[in-house]
Amino acid sequence: MTPDALKVADDLVVSMHYTLTLDDGEVVDSSVKGDPLQFLQGFGQIIPGLEKELYGMAIGDNKQVVVAAADGYGEVDPDAFQVVPRSIFPEELDLEEGMGLRMRDQATGQLIETYIAEIRPEEVLLDFNHPLAGEVLTFDIEITGIRPASDEELAHGHVH
Ligand code: ZN
Repeated sequence: MTPDALKVADDLVVSMHYTLTLDDGEVVDSSVKGDPLQFLQGFGQIIPGLEKELYGMAIGDNKQVVVAAADGYGEVDPDAFQVVPRSIFPEELDLEEGMGLRMRDQATGQLIETYIAEIRPEEVLLDFNHPLAGEVLTFDIEITGIRPASDEELAHGHVH
């Protein structure tokens, strides 16, 4: 089989250009000005709603894939918000809505990512949802490469 006869299937290394657009037309991510994204198909390295649409595609194929929130970054969890006092942040830190922060979980000591949902006079509302939770994701993709993975790549579960 020649390399360009390959079609996307499990255990293959796929290279793909993609542009991710939200429902309001905002482009949140694109590989087009840089290197294509490379990943092992079938290993859950990209979001499930996108991965399952790639099977059978060949090099040079284009597709638009619309992924529902549930198959993307999940629905917004209303319990994943937390109000904290403004005073826990250093005064010189310029807080802005939408700003990403890393907080240390008091119980586990782990760093977790959060976003400022709202700034109130004395309090800050933090959102622990993924920033793309609840969003319908539209991917415009082009397959730019497909090759068999090495035994080592398959054993490690990622591309070398
Ligand atoms: Zn490795």
